[in-house]
Amino acid sequence: MNLDLTLQENMRQPGFREIIAPLMEQRGVTWHGPQRTLEQLIGAGAVVKPDTDLSQARRLTAKLESDAALTKAEAQYLTSTYKAVVEGIEQLQEGQAYLLPMTKEGLALVPDNYDTSTRFRKWGRLVKLRRFGSVDAAERARITPMQLIRVAFQKARLHESYTGYNFAGIRVGEGSTFNRVLLEDCIDGAMIFSYCTYVGKADETANIIVTQRHQPSSTPRTGGMYVVKVPSVDKEEVQSYRIVLKSVPIREKRTGRTRYSTWFNLNAEHTCVIRQDGAHTGRFVRGSRDLCKHIQAAMLYLGWYLRSSDDPYELSFLVNVVPTQSQYNYAMKLRHSVIAEYEDEKGSIIHGTLTKIQREVLEWKRVALRGFDETFAARKGFQDYILGAPQALGGL
Ligand SMILES: [Zn+2]
Repeated sequence: MNLDLTLQENMRQPGFREIIAPLMEQRGVTWHGPQRTLEQLIGAGAVVKPDTDLSQARRLTAKLESDAALTKAEAQYLTSTYKAVVEGIEQLQEGQAYLLPMTKEGLALVPDNYDTSTRFRKWGRLVKLRRFGSVDAAERARITPMQLIRVAFQKARLHESYTGYNFAGIRVGEGSTFNRVLLEDCIDGAMIFSYCTYVGKADETANIIVTQRHQPSSTPRTGGMYVVKVPSVDKEEVQSYRIVLKSVPIREKRTGRTRYSTWFNLNAEHTCVIRQDGAHTGRFVRGSRDLCKHIQAAMLYLGWYLRSSDDPYELSFLVNVVPTQSQYNYAMKLRHSVIAEYEDEKGSIIHGTLTKIQREVLEWKRVALRGFDETFAARKGFQDYILGAPQALGGL
């Protein structure tokens, strides 16, 4: 992140022209319409295209999504195509951008089986965490969210298109949650937390605060309840949100004892643009909403806040993941260095950037290629590389 810019400016997705403007300047290329300018930039090595055949990718992605089995050769084709794309983006150098063809002859990050990307976002495939049948079963297993996440992430496959991961609640009982988590929100949540804890205080619009605490007196059985104020980041929204977090998994610092079932009920009273979407799916389940970037930033902050204060309790688990340095670099390339090439109804070529859900699919491709440990297993010191400034807070 650039600490000279505001949080909002840091989180903004630049447009196509903004991405290529510095490349044109560096290579002395002048604007001659998108097509010719891009050709010149490709010639100059400033824009890179996938050096693999993509022509079957769209058809095979749709075939897979319709639950038809792919032949071994088809699955291999898709796998090697996506591998080449992920590697191509990873290998981008400073002063380079990646041109991703998403025309009829290119990739379909959102499978054609979905009319719109909104429908894909709502109904697309999720990476699912193991569920437990009862509170007792969860307590006996003594499994942490991170262990369940590691197992689930290792099963992600390169040729599939995922829209996030979810942890459904324990099968019985009230208050079961069905929280979905997008990796893109994990990136955003970690960015908001890092920026606010570093810059915070000095900048009114970039400040997270815990305004209220309510913890069970003897046992962390029901989890803690906290009210956290988080900046909204988006221009169109209010400046900050007051989020009520419930069933927050906590443990007593003194004894270290914790419960392994509380986090399944983690929920938040909070509505933002991301969370509102859940209500329109027509299959609205109690608590069936995204664990958005605001809630994630609040949880990260709470973890840091409780640990570094004289509070008798601390957070026992996080249910959101944090990008490693290599994944964070990759995520920033998806936002700042990838040009998407589309085709409109008339067959004319248009250029733009990746949408959030397209980036989400590409985040999962790298998880499938590199595994959990290399992508989202970060815990300590992540503020340093996210802020690009050392001496941050030293992790969680
Ligand atoms: Zn939110």
